[in-house]
Amino acid sequence: MTATPAWPPASTPRLFVDRPLGPGMVLTLDGAPANYLANVMRLKPGDPVRLFDDRTGEWLAEVAMATRRAITLKLAGALRPREEVPDLWLLFAPIKKGRIDWLVEKATELGIARLQPVVTQRTIVDRLNLDRLRAHAIEAAEQCDRTALPVLNEPAKLGMLLRGWPAERPLLFADEAGGLPLADVARPGAAAILIGPEGGFTDEERAQIRRTPGAIGISLGPRILRAETAAAAAIAGWMATAGDWR
Ligand code: SAH
Repeated sequence: MTATPAWPPASTPRLFVDRPLGPGMVLTLDGAPANYLANVMRLKPGDPVRLFDDRTGEWLAEVAMATRRAITLKLAGALRPREEVPDLWLLFAPIKKGRIDWLVEKATELGIARLQPVVTQRTIVDRLNLDRLRAHAIEAAEQCDRTALPVLNEPAKLGMLLRGWPAERPLLFADEAGGLPLADVARPGAAAILIGPEGGFTDEERAQIRRTPGAIGISLGPRILRAETAAAAAIAGWMATAGDWR
């Protein structure tokens, strides 16, 4: 374990800012971030803040000025570079609101690199609020000391994704009807996991997926899992076997 640095203190607030950060930069935040730092955390000039941008890494900043509606931060120095995460994608059929939020949060914590919502025949959710999902991913990264965010794609139809699938990226298809043990097929390197909707895949979809070069049907054990549980379990199993948990 790396020694815990004395400064800034572990309790220093952490915030994602969606712009490239650099030394000496002065930035003024308003809206929710300003409210959180100025009114909730009641930061005063001179107080430290840790900022990360999902590009350059994490920076130490100092409050230069704080009002009820805006806060000005001056970047002092870089704390650490953006982390590397394994090249693992999650393709998942959108599920109900609360559960998909949980799925996005856990996949982010577990180090997924890309989240690709997939519309399948039994997908019940038609409209996806990507801004809300992105906010959950950001919040998970802020709370879990992360410096990288997953890429969150627009939903795409299963058939379209399969037709253009890059065969060199194994597509580990979690098939509730049965498949190979995950630990036997997970290999380090580029990979993707595909999880179906609450209603599962249709036989037609199952056949279409299995015909796709690079697709490998995997089992997540003898018990049927909820879609969001299957997603978290599959990512964890892959991280432990082929990811960076060693
Ligand atoms: N309604 C279906 C289950 C769907 S579970 C049925 O009763 O058969 C939702 C998704 O989670 C599935 O499409 C699959 O991708 C994944 N999943 C759940 N349990 C699994 C298991 N034991 N093995 C592999 N995949 C599983």
